[in-house]
Amino acid sequence: MQPIHHIFSQLATVRKVVITTHQKPDPDAMGSSLALYHFLKQFGHEVTVISPTNWAAFLDWMPGSDKVLNFEITREKSEAIIMAADWIFCLDFNMLARTKSLAPIIEKATATKILIDHHQQPAIESFHFGASDTSKSSTCEMVFDFIVESGHPERINLEIAECLYAGLIGDTGSFRFPAATANVHRMVAELKETGLQHTKVHENIYDNFMENRLRFIGHVLTNRMEISYEYNTALIYVPKSDLLRYDIRTGDTEGLVNYPLSIQGIRMAAIVIDRDEERKWSFRSKGNVDVNTFARRFFEGGGHFNAAGGRSSAPLDETVRTFKKVLKENASEFQLT
Ligand code: 5GP
Ligand code: MN
Repeated sequence: MQPIHHIFSQLATVRKVVITTHQKPDPDAMGSSLALYHFLKQFGHEVTVISPTNWAAFLDWMPGSDKVLNFEITREKSEAIIMAADWIFCLDFNMLARTKSLAPIIEKATATKILIDHHQQPAIESFHFGASDTSKSSTCEMVFDFIVESGHPERINLEIAECLYAGLIGDTGSFRFPAATANVHRMVAELKETGLQHTKVHENIYDNFMENRLRFIGHVLTNRMEISYEYNTALIYVPKSDLLRYDIRTGDTEGLVNYPLSIQGIRMAAIVIDRDEERKWSFRSKGNVDVNTFARRFFEGGGHFNAAGGRSSAPLDETVRTFKKVLKENASEFQLT
């Protein structure tokens, strides 16, 4: 993978461009993709954003989201666009498998593949050019850097600012996590200069749910959360019957994993959701508890040091048992005792 600055001089040559991101895109994935979309459109490129799957309704306010193709319901059209592309930008993921059924198509495509990402251990052999920096708060921060370092800061307009700000607050927990550096705050100042109303972005993402989601959270925290004070760990498990009973949609479970970290002494929180296709794990931690390694080693996943995800094809009760077992056996290695 060559450094991304090698493509700066080629930005002015009109191309067919695809931008893609990880499955079930979150604010950083969707925000960085759409910000880059609005930037590249200004050069006259033919740009298409393709999401591997659907996304949460709380992202639908983002300028340009109505143009994003959901691969699951546009397979033939999306595949044709990917096969005809000159450039494919891969944003906010570190390995092609994170794009699920899109992965073999991206692999097969002859386009130049460009990575912009902040996850650990990227599969750099899959990309021709790229920027991979785990010290960055978000892929949105990296797209901001891309625009500025390529010499076009004046092209950051309100649309781009709204998309970038969404990813920043998503991945920094609204400027709370250690990754909210001085550079991040300087970036926010630049975005504000475009007329960005940050309160509006925050409300669009965090105050945009239905009553059922709050009732669901109440139920889950009361009935589906187990605390292990011995290992300073909390576990939440959500059976499919709960998802059906509360009519839970994509995005409704986002953020749930963070609640147990507000309990004194809890240093790792895990949630497993009984999705149709797999059991999906999310892990969050504080301080020196490395959930990237934990997810990678035990749940086919990865991510960041303090925020990671994984999966299991075992039934819910079995994967929960596995979690408890590996927690017990490895608690001291993961600084949980
Ligand atoms: P979340 O728990 O919010 O789904 O994900 C937390 C972080 O881990 C995100 O940065 C996300 O991209 C990453 N992540 C989530 N699931 C997986 C996975 O299955 N594999 C890998 N490598 N990363 C994941
Ligand atoms: Mn991210």
